[in-house]
Amino acid sequence: MKPGGKTDATSHFAAEKAAKEVNPWSAVKVISPYLKRYSIRITVGFLALIAVDFLQLCVPRIIKNAVDDLQAGLATSNRLLVYGAIIIAIALAIAMLRFVWRILLLGFSRRLEMHLRNRMISHILTLDKAFFQRRTTGEIMALATNDLSSVQLATGMGLVAAVDALFMGLAAIGFMAFIDWRLTLMAIAPMPLLAILTRFLSSRLHRRFKRVQEQFSILTEYVRSSFSSIRLIKAYNQETQQAGRFDRLGTTYVRDNLRLAAIYGTLFPLSGLIGNLSLFIVLFFGGRMTIHGTITAGDFVAFITYLFMMTWPMMALGWVSDLFQRGVTSLDRIHALLKEQPALRSPAGAEQGISIRGAISIRSLSFGYPNQPRLVLKNISLDIRQGLLLGVVGRTGSGKTTLCHLLARLYPVPSGQILLDGTDINRLSLATVRGAIAYVPQEVVLFSESIAFNISMGRKDATWKEIEEVARAAAIHDEIMAMEHGYQTRIGERGVKLSGGQRQRLAIARALLLDRPIIIIDDGLSAVDMETEHAIIRSIASYLKGHTCIIVSHRLAPLADADEIVVMEEGRIVERGTHSQLLERSGFYATIYYQQTSLAGASELAGRADAT
Ligand code: ADP
Repeated sequence: MKPGGKTDATSHFAAEKAAKEVNPWSAVKVISPYLKRYSIRITVGFLALIAVDFLQLCVPRIIKNAVDDLQAGLATSNRLLVYGAIIIAIALAIAMLRFVWRILLLGFSRRLEMHLRNRMISHILTLDKAFFQRRTTGEIMALATNDLSSVQLATGMGLVAAVDALFMGLAAIGFMAFIDWRLTLMAIAPMPLLAILTRFLSSRLHRRFKRVQEQFSILTEYVRSSFSSIRLIKAYNQETQQAGRFDRLGTTYVRDNLRLAAIYGTLFPLSGLIGNLSLFIVLFFGGRMTIHGTITAGDFVAFITYLFMMTWPMMALGWVSDLFQRGVTSLDRIHALLKEQPALRSPAGAEQGISIRGAISIRSLSFGYPNQPRLVLKNISLDIRQGLLLGVVGRTGSGKTTLCHLLARLYPVPSGQILLDGTDINRLSLATVRGAIAYVPQEVVLFSESIAFNISMGRKDATWKEIEEVARAAAIHDEIMAMEHGYQTRIGERGVKLSGGQRQRLAIARALLLDRPIIIIDDGLSAVDMETEHAIIRSIASYLKGHTCIIVSHRLAPLADADEIVVMEEGRIVERGTHSQLLERSGFYATIYYQQTSLAGASELAGRADAT
């Protein structure tokens, strides 16, 4: 890990991005369908915006006329009242039109943000484990928050300010030129300086902003992982260290932001300075022209008003280019995410609606995780006929979970190595394979909802009777009924806390309810004692008669009734047979079995001795 706490996944992300950083503006095509979809709303919005600018530009003309009238002695109270009334009417129209463009244009950017967010979430949901191993949750969350809001700002206020500044700037120049083109040329002479300055600073701005966004991803991930492992942090007394590390990450974030602010700190004051340079020129030369009568006093006042009107577009140039840079950088990051493809996809032309009976055939299966040279499964061959109860045992790291992952189709496997009902799984659609298998992973995931919701989440049409039946089969029904709200008990953050064993049995009940031809339980009862595990496996086996069951366990005794047991060691199957056959063989299985049962026996004896 690098000092800033930068994770491997993040550095991988940065490297990946640097490699393909061709032209970030190409990411703009991500939003082009929405520009098309909302084209009427956008056009009307911009027309309203331009109308506001136009009306604003009319005001100095009225002031000019009023001043000229005053100077020429033509001004009467009535006349001045008319001028005032026109200005009020213009102000009213401006207020209404501003409301219209705000609703239309800022509304567009909010809608765009919503569409992009939905698209990102739907896309992320299609991606598989390999993606989530590469990208941290914090990084994904930062994309869905910080990056999305910079896109919203760029397409909302950014676009508005760009059009506004462009129109206002050009129109002001036009009106100024109408008064006197030489004075106009002099007034705008310092402006190219601004363009050069903006151009010079913008590439730095882009780089520094990207750094800020990446640091924000790291910070978000750090907060997420700290809170999700809060119990561990407390158990290890790590609060101060965690806070210290967070402080360092936060300091880096502030430093990155300050480096970014240093650029604004240069850009904005310099733009202001250039604006004042123009004012100096106009006051001096324009003033002289007025004295010589080349332009009227009204013209002079109007000219200065137009110059002030130009200050905003000039300032906006820097701001808008920053907003666009940020928006494009963020859009580029979002684009990279949307381009991610799941490693696993249904084969083209895969038949739909095939029903699987549950026979599995594994042929010389060898597997290594993506980007890892080592093979984790080596030449596994196994026939699991329909309805068989297969026990899989072996030391930690021997490859049991990996085998389950491959059967559940969570990683790609080479063709011809896993067959379902005689068909290569690579030729079946993902929906067919996953629809045939109920998988209970080692880590139980429950939602902060009711127990009934958690059990029935894969089958919303399940009846109460069915829910109770599976809970009984998973030996959790009585414990649920003993709770105050029974099946309606909320679990998780603001509900009751369940024990590890209860959580595991709920997960098993959930899988049983799916009623799929194949069920895979990956060490799903590790948190209950050995006898209870044995009893539950018996109960599940009788409930699932006719279904193919694969049960992984690190304890051997509970699997004694399995039709077949395979023993794995370093990615290979080293022994196989029924419990009694394996005991007779006096090999690895028998040694571990006697070790485990004598330990269990000893602890039971110790328990009895304590009781007496
Ligand atoms: P078991 O379930 O028997 O404990 P696993 O299948 O979890 O064994 O692990 C087998 C080997 O594969 C281990 O050496 C482990 O480090 C490696 N492994 C497991 N998951 C991954 C992964 N996602 N990426 C890379 N290696 C992995």
